[in-house]
Amino acid sequence: MQIKAAVLREMNQPLSIEEIEIDQPAAHEVLVRTVASGVCHSDLHCVRGNLPTRVPAVLGHEPAGIVEAVGSEVSTVKPGDHVIACTSIYCGDCVQCLSGRPHLCVNRAACRRPKGASPRLSQNGLPIDQFADLAAFAEKMLVHERAVIKIGEDIPLDRAALLGCAVTTGVGAALNTADVRAGSSVAVFGAGGVGTSIIQGARIAGARQIIAVDLLDNKLDNARHFGATHVVNASKVDPVKQIKALSEGGVDYSFEAIGHPKVLEQAFYCLAPRGICTLVGAIPTGQKVELIAGHFYVEKQIRGCFMGSNRFHIDMPRYLELYRQGRLNLDDMVTRRGRLEDVNEAFRAMEAGEVTRTVLLLAS
Ligand SMILES: [Zn+2]
Ligand SMILES: [Zn+2]
Repeated sequence: MQIKAAVLREMNQPLSIEEIEIDQPAAHEVLVRTVASGVCHSDLHCVRGNLPTRVPAVLGHEPAGIVEAVGSEVSTVKPGDHVIACTSIYCGDCVQCLSGRPHLCVNRAACRRPKGASPRLSQNGLPIDQFADLAAFAEKMLVHERAVIKIGEDIPLDRAALLGCAVTTGVGAALNTADVRAGSSVAVFGAGGVGTSIIQGARIAGARQIIAVDLLDNKLDNARHFGATHVVNASKVDPVKQIKALSEGGVDYSFEAIGHPKVLEQAFYCLAPRGICTLVGAIPTGQKVELIAGHFYVEKQIRGCFMGSNRFHIDMPRYLELYRQGRLNLDDMVTRRGRLEDVNEAFRAMEAGEVTRTVLLLAS
């Protein structure tokens, strides 16, 4: 079947809108009509060559849509179901999966087609890579059934899409990875889609002080809207000094949501003793971080975080319930909507700091 997709052919070039071939679902696969697809910084990292990416590839990993067809063994969803898709596919059998950490599954290949099988996506007989095992910048997605979760039809799909990556990553970083305690103090570096989701997670957890740090005043205003109690413009003041002053000595939790080594250092230095710094942003492959070791004497910690340490079949229904209750704001996170053809403009707007999230609407 032919579909329209945005294809990455070459690093640092715009995605090109092309007709490609999508296969029929195999036994455990689901064909989804993509209705909405958020544009994430990780997609841009692929275009810029900051994340390892095979080309040609269809990017996009923050989608929601409607199931069109399912393979013979699929029992979790059926045609017509509304679903969110997430990159955190998991085998269910490895040590990480069995330890309750399916986001760190070491055998994701179990959810892919075996070597030698026909590719899910192709063009003129040549395979096209499916970024994040999703390839959401396309009219349809062909994914493993463990990549989707059914949701209620009351949730607008353009907002549900955000749970595919940004919200699950950010809220999960606060609630799962860092385990923010009620009454604590928090600093969040970066107030884009993931940063504002961390702020919301910290608010939901009951943090008493949430300090947002960014270089742009419009993003800091936005951060307040989502729950920041204080803001710091790091282009005007030293953020470490300012956070230490505001928190009377340092925060209990800090989050790096940009993906820059210097910012990670700042996020570490602004902690109180026993504070926990969580790295959520994607630091480009190969870059190093340097830290003054003395800070570890007061039991500060740094944690990695992948996709908000999600168990998305457990987390997403909870986050959607928080949305229904008005405690998780998804509505105001979608600051711009576009068509598939607008994906390159969405990257430009993201780099310029103009948007919290652009969501592409793909239903024709
Ligand atoms: Zn993402
Ligand atoms: Zn596994």
